[in-house]
Amino acid sequence: MHEMGITQSILAASFDAAHNAGATRITEIRISVGELTETVDFALQFAFEALTPETMAEGATLVIRKVPARSHCNSCGTDYYHDRFEMVCPNCGSLDVTLLQGRELDIDSIEADDEPPSKGPATVIVTDEQPAEE
Ligand SMILES: [Zn+2]
Repeated sequence: MHEMGITQSILAASFDAAHNAGATRITEIRISVGELTETVDFALQFAFEALTPETMAEGATLVIRKVPARSHCNSCGTDYYHDRFEMVCPNCGSLDVTLLQGRELDIDSIEADDEPPSKGPATVIVTDEQPAEE
């Protein structure tokens, strides 16, 4: 389950950032996860709930923003959303395409303060970015 390693990396980076800011508690971590990372939301949630107790992120909220795959066609210039199996340009059928987004695995923001770490269960929220109108 690679989500455990991903979550460990996210937490390690978050702890570093919070420590550097002089914070003692992390209340929220927002991440962007591209559809093409093949990361399972439930597994991320499980990992976050398993790894945060007894840390400065205990009781924190993890907000997972799912990023759909989107590509640019180098033949006809169309930008389009697609799934991970179908990258062909829907306009002209070209395979000469450049991925614009969908491989993200980024920390967008961390909220931390100098209160004692919270007690209690973590919260995980999954949001879907809606494709913009073409
Ligand atoms: Zn095209």
